[in-house]
Amino acid sequence: MHVKSDVRTGGTTASHQARCTGMGVTRYYADYAWLGGDRVAGRVLLEVDGDRIAAVRAGVDRPADAVHLAGVTLPGMANAHSHAFHRALRGRTHRGGGTFWTWREDMYRIAERLTPDSYYALARALYAEMALAGISCVGEFHYLHHGPGGRAYHDRNAMGEALIAAAQAAGIRITLLDACYLAGGVGAPLQGAQLRFGDGDADGWSSRASELRPAPHARVGAAIHSVRAVPPPAIQVVADWSRERHAPLHFHLSEQRAENDACLAAYGRTPARLLAEHQALGPRSSAVHATHLTADDIATLSGSATTICMTPTTERDLADGIGPARDLARAGCALALGSDSNAVVDLIEEARAVELDERLRTERRGHWSASELLGAATAAGHASLGWADAGRLAAGALADFVTIGLGSVRLSGAEPATMLEHVVFAASAADVRDVVVGGRQIVAEHRHALLDDVPAALDAAIKAVTL
Ligand SMILES: [Zn+2]
Repeated sequence: MHVKSDVRTGGTTASHQARCTGMGVTRYYADYAWLGGDRVAGRVLLEVDGDRIAAVRAGVDRPADAVHLAGVTLPGMANAHSHAFHRALRGRTHRGGGTFWTWREDMYRIAERLTPDSYYALARALYAEMALAGISCVGEFHYLHHGPGGRAYHDRNAMGEALIAAAQAAGIRITLLDACYLAGGVGAPLQGAQLRFGDGDADGWSSRASELRPAPHARVGAAIHSVRAVPPPAIQVVADWSRERHAPLHFHLSEQRAENDACLAAYGRTPARLLAEHQALGPRSSAVHATHLTADDIATLSGSATTICMTPTTERDLADGIGPARDLARAGCALALGSDSNAVVDLIEEARAVELDERLRTERRGHWSASELLGAATAAGHASLGWADAGRLAAGALADFVTIGLGSVRLSGAEPATMLEHVVFAASAADVRDVVVGGRQIVAEHRHALLDDVPAALDAAIKAVTL
């Protein structure tokens, strides 16, 4: 199957290519670049040696041999939370107004139909869509592990490996966050499509997840689906697994009030408190959603240095509420961003939504600076996914960067003094012009270098699992 051969060839990185082809140092010249702080720098030369940035110099003339990055260049963006197959739901879950439950029924229907091959095709097209949106690294929160009825594939990680191969084919990095998912609710067995998610018990999950192998573009982390789906002793097993491997650990947290109510009724404590008592919080951990929290939850999360991953366009789509992002950050939590249901793939939109949601909630402006929000989309997201060496434009960092073109009607009139605000509050994914990952240009002038026709690939992959 093509999926496996793609995984085996996963070692072809830009640095490998550079060594083999004698490319040496490649020079990129950015009209403007965000090197940190609240302003952009002008006339910036980025020297790339293999897959890393060798030098960054601002205020220089353009060398004749440099690749021109027309616009404002940022570090590559990290989408810290995705469920790739949810992309097939976009636009289909609003009939009759749509409820959370009609959305969930449709989600299970697609989950029942996917195979390793069809999931590879869908994820490859989605990750190419992400690349076109300036996302150079995705955190795939993966729980669709097994075949229909829960039967294991001959290769027990066929689905996870399909996702790793899909990211490679789309030219982006991935952290596969392999999720433990054992129950259909507190004390309830898995049923229907959920049978594909389960590994029987925590040891079954650990045994299978331990067989996953990283690649130059791929790292492996762990996930606890939620306190609804993973009983406390199993939470401990997954937390121990990630600690032993120094791997990222992600979990959905207090996405809905019903989750909190079920947890309080069963265990007499909130989800955050339960996760803390089973060693799931800490600097390698990321809590996704964190929407309905108590003051004690906020103190518990910040005291443990857990990152918060906000997914505002998904909360908006599913009517789940607005999480206390500013309170969490003020208490000391780092903020990352994710597309979750992939109803929207646009990290700029996620970034500005954090501020705009807060404005609606408080009837005040000015909670987050543009540079703070771009930091969430870049460095903090990469750190959450275990790529601390990406997400910044500096010597020694991985050569992942994205250029926002300034030629669209959205950005006409942009000026250097407020360039970051123009990007965060006016740009969209459609303004992403160029993307470089590991020193290799995968998007050039809005076109994906590895997939000729990304819309057609998405269309075919979605129809294959929905019609
Ligand atoms: Zn999610």
